[in-house]
This record gives sequence, structure tokens and C-alpha cells, in this order.
Amino acid sequence: MRCPFAVPPAARRRAAPLIFLAACGVVSPLSGQSVPEVSGGAVPPEQAAYDVRFYELSLTVDPADSTIDGTNVIHADVRAPLSVFVFDLDPTLAVGGITLDGDAALPFERRGGQVWATLPRAYGAGERLAVEVAYGGHPRSVPEGGFDGFIWARTRDGHPWITVSCELFGADLWWPVKDHLADEPDSMALHIRVPEPLFVAANGRLRGSFRDPDGWVTWDWFVSTPINNYGVSINVAPYRAISTPYPSLGGDSIPVTFWVLPEDLTQARRAFPAFLDHLRHLEELAGPYPFRADKYGIAQTPYLGMEHQTIIAYGAGFRNDAMAGIDWGFDGLHQHELAHEWFGNQLTPPEWADLWLNEGFAQYLQPLYAESRLGEAKAAELLGIYRRFLRNRQPVAPRAVLNSRQAYNNDIYFKGALVLHTLRYLVGDDAFFEIVRRWTAPDAPGATGSCGCRAVTTDEFVALAGEVAGADLAWFFEVYLRQAALPRLIAERGDGTLELRWEAPDGLPFPMPIDVGLAGVTRRVEMAGGAARLPVAPDVEVVVDPRAAVLRAVPR
Ligand SMILES: [Zn+2]
Repeated sequence: MRCPFAVPPAARRRAAPLIFLAACGVVSPLSGQSVPEVSGGAVPPEQAAYDVRFYELSLTVDPADSTIDGTNVIHADVRAPLSVFVFDLDPTLAVGGITLDGDAALPFERRGGQVWATLPRAYGAGERLAVEVAYGGHPRSVPEGGFDGFIWARTRDGHPWITVSCELFGADLWWPVKDHLADEPDSMALHIRVPEPLFVAANGRLRGSFRDPDGWVTWDWFVSTPINNYGVSINVAPYRAISTPYPSLGGDSIPVTFWVLPEDLTQARRAFPAFLDHLRHLEELAGPYPFRADKYGIAQTPYLGMEHQTIIAYGAGFRNDAMAGIDWGFDGLHQHELAHEWFGNQLTPPEWADLWLNEGFAQYLQPLYAESRLGEAKAAELLGIYRRFLRNRQPVAPRAVLNSRQAYNNDIYFKGALVLHTLRYLVGDDAFFEIVRRWTAPDAPGATGSCGCRAVTTDEFVALAGEVAGADLAWFFEVYLRQAALPRLIAERGDGTLELRWEAPDGLPFPMPIDVGLAGVTRRVEMAGGAARLPVAPDVEVVVDPRAAVLRAVPR
């Protein structure tokens, strides 16, 4: 979640859905990690040479002057010979010093968004390093409603309300990190110090708190699973907690907690049962909640939403139409962000070019939930709205190494969701939901930790879909994901016939069967070779694709 819905609350209230999209164009190409405002892209060899195992972030957050100050210890395994340790940090933050393994101070140089620290000797594959970075200053901030920055807001009764999001910028916006999706730590500790009476809601499980004599409190959180760097977040406010144990379909009990501003406690209590129903629906669809070892948490935020792992940001204001101005019929924002716990947090594409695997799935979950709880008509209404959002300017999943801003665009959400809907039409419900279950399977090859977290690619999804369907579906994904333009269906009535013909970009094969309604009776017409001809009497009413199930170019 973020850009398509990233409009200030005031604008959101009056915005028609299409307004958001204007702000979300694909930016011009940027080079890799020396540019702080992007995440990912090509991994420089100096960073590919190490693998992060553990981050320990200790930070004082001072509402009085909007600063952060602290340390991060990066524990890493060396994979290839290494004489310089390179990490990312926004140049707006000062580095006070870097030490190795607890004592040796390392000389360092800042190069744009990177810090190059010289090691005292060459390290070889198999060795382990612990690099501690002392840093601080004024992190980038954004106004309320904004993304990619700290928000230093106030509650209605004047208390500090501090949050941070950093998906496209990357976590180097606020802590020293190897800013690539491909390298998640196995676990992470966060020690966040704030003045009373503020509470810190963060990722993982709360291990305890420590109160200094001066009235500052350090909140100790521990993430027991892998986590992607933009999924790390802190939320600071005089929160009140609504909690319940939730009986997971995994057989265990998950603590579920909603941290909410005191003034919104009543509304939050009213919304909470529906949030638990979203969780139930997702467990039934995609398997047990992946982060049962930690928690499911929600924190009220002064921006719309973000899928921070086990502590999703919730800023929809308890409105069903907060996300994209669409009346979902339920709290679509919460349900979307929760879906990312599977699609994005458990399963993470190491390349930004595959981001549709997060957003396409998360966006398809709203029609699926609507179908389950409100009926097919509501689901069809939502999918119809999605079709109006399509841009078709770049492939949903380009075959390229892209950084976050190059990859990010509107179609990864809505077109991604419609591709999945079309896949469901093609293979049928049984196969489609089997694909989803096997996709999120915690015991899949490559899965790590109790969450079954693993790196995923578009090619892997294409292979799985074909395997479950028992057919080679490469043609389907080649056209829908790897090409920008949509296929076009030409339908012409002749003398007693109906001619159907697909025109796919670049003349690619596209044998997509199509449903045709003839005099009120629907039949599926096979299109082997991309074309079909069927006898139809001149006076018979013909409706092609009566359920609007197949994604294709529609004449405007
Ligand atoms: Zn999303």
C-alpha cells in the first residue's frame, strides 16, 4: 500500500478514485544505492559480499526537537572477500562513529546515500562481523498523510504522535541498513526510548520496558523471524491497547492488539471484531497467519496505511471508503494491509520488478473478501472499478533489475489483481485456490523460520500455477505480466457466424478461451490458435464474456 492512496485526508475526502493516480507516475531511471531516495536496484559487489543475520537498533526518539539518536549493530556473515563494509544511510543523518566487534573504530567515508567503512584487514567467506554505527539527527519528515518520512504529529489533546514509513525510500531513511529486499535479517531487536507517557508499538513481541529516573522509557521489541527492511517501523503515542487472544487455524493462539489513540477507543472497539474476521478469512484462504510466534498488531497512524510486519499502520479513520475513495463495503484498508502479512511479509520478492506479487495479491483480496461476506455482486462492482484504473504503460512484472521507484506504478495493484482474477477464470476455482494455498505454504522449499518466510519470484509463481493447473500457462503470464499493452478480442458477426480472434501485443500466442452468452445461455468457447468461429443465427443475442472475467483492452 501507499502511493495510489497517498493523499492527505482532506483531499481524500473529496477525491474521486482516479485522482490518486496522477501522483504515481513512474519516475525517471535512477542509479543504484548511492541515491538515498530509492531502495534496491543492482546490488554493489561490496554489499553482495555480506549477508545480514541480525540488526540491533537502539534509538532515542525526542518529540521535543524531532530528532532520533542511537546505534544500530549490523551482524553479518561474510560471503566473499571483503575489505570495506558498505551500508546505506540517508545523508541527512550524521554518523558519530563506527566500531567493529565492540572496539576497533573504523575510518569511514560518506558517498551519497552510502557509508564506506574500511575494515582493519581483509575478511574471508565464513567470517562474521558486528559493525556498530552511532548516528542521529533530524530524519526526513513528511506532513500528516505523507509517506516515506517521519510524521511528527499531535493527538487531539496535544500529545506527540510519531510514526515512520519508508517503503520506496528504504529503511536507510532512518537507520543504517543494507537497503535491498534480497537481504533480510533472520531476526531483529528494537530498543526505542521515548518520554512518558508515550508508548512504542513496534514489530515483533514486546519483551519488556525499562524506565530511567528521568522519566524516559525504553521499550524492547524482538522480531523472531526474517523481516524486510521497509517492514520495520515504530509508532509512538499515548496509545491505549485493545487486545484479544485469537484462535489461529494453525492450532495456536495469537495475541492480537490494536494500539489506538485514547480519543478513538470507542470506535476502535467497534471496528475490532471486523478486523478479526478479516484475519479469519485470510487464514482460510492463505493458511495460518505467518507470524504467530510474535503477534498480529495494528497501530493507529496519521497516514493511510502500510504493511509493517506484525504492526500494520492503520490510518483509515474507521471509514470503509478511506482507501482510493472506493466504498468497499468493509474496512478495505485494514483488510488490504493484513493481506500483506502473507503477500509481502511472509513471501517477499527480492527484486522490486516483482512487486506485483505483493500488491496484486493484496489488492485482489478485497474482492475476494467482498465475495465471501457480501456476495458476488459486490465483488464484481469492485473489479469493475479496478478496470477503470488501468494504465498499461509498463509491464506489471518487467524483466529488469529496477529500483523501488522505477518499479512502482499503479498497475502492480489493480492490473495485478485483475490478472489473478483472470487466472481464476482460466483454471477454475479449485485450481486457483490450490495455487494460493501452495504459494503461501510455510513448508515450501526455501522457507525459513517459524513464519515460513521465503523469497519469491514471478517465474516461480508462473511455474506453480502451471503445475497445479496441469498445463503450461507461460503464454498467459507472458502477455499479461511481461507486456505493457493488453490483448484485444475482436468479435465480428458474419452471415450466421460469430468470429472471435485475439490480438496480443507483439503477435504473441494467446489461446484464451472466452465465455459467450447465446440467447441467455453461456458456453465457453475454446480459442486454440487464438481464434474461433461458431455458428450463430442472425437473430440470436450474443454477449461476449458476460461476467467480465477476462482482462482485455476495451474500446473507450
Ligand atoms: Zn498494498
